[in-house]
Amino acid sequence: MPKVKEAIDLLVAANHILAHENVVDAFGHVSIRHPEIPNHYFISCSRSPQLVTPDDIMEFDLEGNSVDGSKLRPYAERHIHGAIMEARPEINSVVHNHSYSVIPFGLTGVKLRPAIHVGAGVGEDIGVWDIHDKFGDTDLLVRNMEHGRDLASFLGQSTVVLMRGHGSTVAGQGLKGTVLTAIYLQVSATIQLQAMQLGDIKFLSPGELEKCQEMFFSDLSQDRAWEHYVMCAEEER
Ligand SMILES: [Zn+2]
Repeated sequence: MPKVKEAIDLLVAANHILAHENVVDAFGHVSIRHPEIPNHYFISCSRSPQLVTPDDIMEFDLEGNSVDGSKLRPYAERHIHGAIMEARPEINSVVHNHSYSVIPFGLTGVKLRPAIHVGAGVGEDIGVWDIHDKFGDTDLLVRNMEHGRDLASFLGQSTVVLMRGHGSTVAGQGLKGTVLTAIYLQVSATIQLQAMQLGDIKFLSPGELEKCQEMFFSDLSQDRAWEHYVMCAEEER
């Protein structure tokens, strides 16, 4: 099954890239929909993304049940991935992370908005999902499909959702674009925080956002960026 091997190789590279860029640390994860069985997805077992190898990849149905007979321990928060793929058939990859630059926007009323051209992939509509609204006092983790479906419903048709006191999740059509969006979400958050200290920010206009998204998601940009980030991540291994 060459398509499956290709998907798993991409997923392993995505783990290393996100770790190298500090989007994920010991925690956080990335998934890819099974290229031949759309109601299944691949994701690593419960392991730091930096350390993930092809042998760590597990296969789940969208409800988070292991379907490959693996005895490895799964991520508790895998339901984020299955619930979003269940709600959005066009979504083939999800990144969940606890990026420290992004979290402040989930704690305050300050909205994270695209202001730089490479940050356009995050989209205009970035809401903050608060698990407390429906589930009261929890450990803030998305531990079951009920939590996951509530998050997916809040995400709606957006690309990014912030999670109060916890992190953020990015959903995309392709794995490369989703990983790059998660990287530039972090860059955007850092720049917005810095710019806010200097004064008022001029954000991208709707027309600029559209044109910059076209540029960001073009094969030319994605392939060039992917090659760069793969090299950076693998160089240190
Ligand atoms: Zn988390």
